[in-house]
Amino acid sequence: MPDFEYKVEQFADLRILRYQIPNFNDLPLQKKLYIYYLSEAALCGRDIIWDQNNEYNLWLRRCMDLMYTLIPKDDKEFARFEELYKRILFSNGIHHHYSTEKLTAEFDKQKLHNWLELLSNDQIEQLGFKKLSELKTLLSQLLFDKTFISKRVCQDDGIDLIQRSANNFYKDLSQVEVERFYNSRMNEADKAPISHGLNSRLVKTDDGLKEETWCVGNKYTCSIEQIVFWLKKASGVSENKQQKQVIKLLCDYYESGSLTTFDEYSIEWLKENDGDIDFINGFIEVYGDPLGFKATWESLVNVTDKEETKKAALISENAQWFESHSPVMDKHRKEKVTGVSMKVINAIMLGGDCYPASPLGINLPNAEWIRELHGSKAVSLQNISQAYEMASLSSGVIEEFAFDEEEITLHKQYGSIADNLHTHLHECVGHGSGKLESGVRSDALKAYGSVIEEARADLFGLYFMADEKMLELNLVPSMDVAKAQYNAYIRNGLMVQMARINIGANIEQTHMRNRQLVAKWVMQKGMEQNTIQQVTKDGKNYFVINDYKELRRLFGLLLKEVQRIKSQGDYDAAKDLVEHYGVKVDPLLHKEVKERYGQLNVAPYSGFLNPKLELIKDDKENIINVEVSYKESFLEQMQRYNKEYGFENAATCGF
Ligand code: ZN
Repeated sequence: MPDFEYKVEQFADLRILRYQIPNFNDLPLQKKLYIYYLSEAALCGRDIIWDQNNEYNLWLRRCMDLMYTLIPKDDKEFARFEELYKRILFSNGIHHHYSTEKLTAEFDKQKLHNWLELLSNDQIEQLGFKKLSELKTLLSQLLFDKTFISKRVCQDDGIDLIQRSANNFYKDLSQVEVERFYNSRMNEADKAPISHGLNSRLVKTDDGLKEETWCVGNKYTCSIEQIVFWLKKASGVSENKQQKQVIKLLCDYYESGSLTTFDEYSIEWLKENDGDIDFINGFIEVYGDPLGFKATWESLVNVTDKEETKKAALISENAQWFESHSPVMDKHRKEKVTGVSMKVINAIMLGGDCYPASPLGINLPNAEWIRELHGSKAVSLQNISQAYEMASLSSGVIEEFAFDEEEITLHKQYGSIADNLHTHLHECVGHGSGKLESGVRSDALKAYGSVIEEARADLFGLYFMADEKMLELNLVPSMDVAKAQYNAYIRNGLMVQMARINIGANIEQTHMRNRQLVAKWVMQKGMEQNTIQQVTKDGKNYFVINDYKELRRLFGLLLKEVQRIKSQGDYDAAKDLVEHYGVKVDPLLHKEVKERYGQLNVAPYSGFLNPKLELIKDDKENIINVEVSYKESFLEQMQRYNKEYGFENAATCGF
C-alpha cells in the first residue's frame, strides 16, 4: 500500500494518525483468526479504563453520545461541542490523557442548558435522572467547574494525593488510610510478594476498608466476561501449547481475581517466545495511581517483526556486556543478567490505556521479583514509531528547534535509527539492569519511583549509544547516530516538550519529568566547561552541544547516581533530584517555545486509529478469511467502539 494515509485529522492539541499492519494478508487463516479473537478481547475492556479514569466518565460518554445526535449541526456552537466531545473520546474520559487535567467546555453554559432541553423524558431517564434540572446541574459541574474533579493524577508533594486525584481507584479515603492499609499487607515477608491492590478499587465500608476486585462476578464483570469469552475462542486457534497455557492462566485470573494466578500467568507469558503473535491484556501499569498500587487496564495484540527483531536481538545477547560496563557502582550491578528478551513488533490492535495514545515500547512484567528471577519481555512497536516518523518529517519542528543545517541533516539521516536504538536500549537492557541493596523495597521511592526508573533506563540508553560497541555490533552505520540522539534528547528535554505544558503549569507527566531532569542536570553540570551552550540567534534560543564526549561522561555520572538512589531507596535524594530538575520550567523559555511551536500548527500529542478487522464467511457460515481495512474516521471508530464494546452500565457502575 504505497499511498497509505498516516494522517487522519487534527483538533485541539491532538493529531490522529493511522498505523499499518505489514503483510497481514499473507498470514495463514489460523493466525488471522487468532489475531481476530485476541483483538476482540483487546477491545472489550474499553469501559474499564473509562471508569478507572474517573467515576463519571461512562455516564458522561453516554450523555455526550446522545447529545451529539441531538444538537443541530448548523448550531453556531456545534463545532465547539464536537471538539470537546472528540477530546473526551481521545482521553478515555474528561481528563487530558497526558497532563491529566480536566478538560472544560468552551461553549456557553446557557447553550448547554438549551441543548439539554432537546432530551426526551425517556432519554433523561435513560441517563439515570428523573428531573432535567438535576441532569443540568451535574453536567454543568462536569463541563464547566474547573475545581470539580480538577485533576486525574495529582503528584504535588505535601498534599493528600488520594483525595486530590480524581481517578476511580479509591473511594472516600485519605492517603494515610490507603498507605496504612497496603503497608500492613506488605509487611508479611514473602518470597513471591504479590502486587497488593493491583486489581481492585479500595472503598470504605461500615466494616472497614474493602477491596472491590476487578474480576468475573465482581466489579467490571460485564466487560471481563466478554474478554474471557474471546480469550477462550483465541485459545482454540493458538499457535502453540504454551499460548494455550498462558491464556488459560489469564482466564483463571480474570475469573478469580487472584494476584498469585496473575503472577503465574506473567511467568508463563515470559516463556512464550515461539509464536509470531503475542498479546498483553490486563491490569498492567500503575502510572494512573499517584501511590502506584492500582493498575489501569490495557491491551495490545501484536505480531513479531522478524527482520528488525534479529537486529535488536544483538542487544539482548550482549546484556551481560552492558551490565558489566555500565558506569554504576559495582555493588549495584547484577552479577548475572537473565532472560532479557528483545522483540520488535508491529501493533495490530490497541486497547484500554494503550488506545488511542500508544506507547512506543513496553517492558513487562512489572513485578520486581519476577523480573529478577525470570527476566522480562521488552518490545518496541515498529509500525507505531514508523507512523510517527512519517507524519513528523513534514511538520517543521526539527527545522524550527535545531540550531543549524548540520543538526537538521544529521536528524534526517540518522534520527529514526537513533530513536529506535535508544528505545531498544531503554526497554531491553535499561530497565532490566542494576539491583537493589538487600533490604531495600522496590517501592521505597514512592511517588518519585517511576520518574527515577524512567530516567535510569533513558540514561542507560544514552550512555551506551555513544559506545564503540554499537559499531562493533553493526547496530549503527556511524557514531554520528549517537550525536543525532544527543541533539534530539537535549532539544526535546530543554525545549520542544514544553510545548505540551500550559503556561504557568509545572511538568507532571513521568516521562516528561525524567527527560527534563536528565537534560537540565547535564546542562548544569557541564556549565563550566560549556558542554552544552545556550545560544541566541535572531531572538530565538537554541541549545548546542559543544562536547559530545563530555556529555556522554555526564550521562554516565547521572546514571551512577540515579542507580544509587534506586539501589539504596534514597527517597530524599530522589525527591531532591526530581523537584529540582524535573518539575519547574523556565517561564520565559516556556513562553518562547509555545510561540514557536504554535506557529508550526502541529498538535503536540498523537494518537492512533486501529485497523478494522472483519470476519469473512461463505454462504454456509464458515469463516474463510479475516479482512483488514483502514477506512474509519476518528469519530466513526470511537462511536462504533462505544456501541459495540460498551458493556458496563453507566448509570450504576459509576456513582
Ligand atoms: Zn521505560
